[in-house]
Amino acid sequence: MSVIIAVSNQKGGVGKTTTSVNLSSAIAATGLKTLLVDLDPQGNATSGMGINKKQVNQGTYEVLCGDVSAVDAITRPRVKNMDMLPTGMDLAGAEVELLSRSKREYVLKNALEPVRDNYSFIIIDCPPSLTVLTLNALTAADKVLVPIQCEFYALEGLGQLLNTVKLVKQHLNSALEIDGVVCTMFDGRTNLSAQVVDEVKKYFSDKVYRTAIPRNIRLAEAPSFGVPIDVFDPSCPGSDAYRRLAQEVINRNA
Ligand code: ATP
Ligand code: MG
Repeated sequence: MSVIIAVSNQKGGVGKTTTSVNLSSAIAATGLKTLLVDLDPQGNATSGMGINKKQVNQGTYEVLCGDVSAVDAITRPRVKNMDMLPTGMDLAGAEVELLSRSKREYVLKNALEPVRDNYSFIIIDCPPSLTVLTLNALTAADKVLVPIQCEFYALEGLGQLLNTVKLVKQHLNSALEIDGVVCTMFDGRTNLSAQVVDEVKKYFSDKVYRTAIPRNIRLAEAPSFGVPIDVFDPSCPGSDAYRRLAQEVINRNA
């Protein structure tokens, strides 16, 4: 049985890509086959895994357009048990292409169907928007994982995301559930971080993962070396946190 998780929050810069990349590799490190899908035209997950966007000519965009199958577009970054569906320079155009398709919200789901059984987990890095690309992710997914940055206005706009999840459940994917909410960029030295975590817990109660991801400069540095944190610096606090988060995600889906 495979589990497809969309990492989503329409707010920008909250840690979606950092979480997608490092959660994927931490799950893979436990021996479970994992596929990371880059569904963001920014392509940060792709470059964060050391893949040059300019050299991707069979990626998420080509898969969504039906020009290539997922199995042919999937690449193997040098992380054991981990595969990737990267994005090239054209994914932004997919929004436009998809709009003219019938059943346009189901394109990713259908494209992943032939490969999903090859993986225990498929993690989708979503763009900071609630447009047709994100609807494709939520329609393909079994679960949503929401990163929330420990900052002022952390909960602002979340109603919109939750409403979208509700609508997707009603109309496109009745099985969709929120797996959990992860607090990111937690700074234990500030009251603000602790206050945000309290607020998030009030709002989401037991959906909040016990692990908060600390603010850790190593997590921000790893992408420029094109490797996940457990390769870049396996003993740093960020690496430790993503290992613990991976275990929680695995346990919730066991
Ligand atoms: P976007 O909405 O643009 O796709 P995002 O939600 O994917 O952004 P990230 O790219 O993961 O967010 O993170 C935003 C920035 O914060 C990046 O520069 C990243 O390196 C940095 N960052 C993310 N998590 C942490 C952390 N725990 N500690 C320190 N820096 C972090
Ligand atoms: Mg991102």
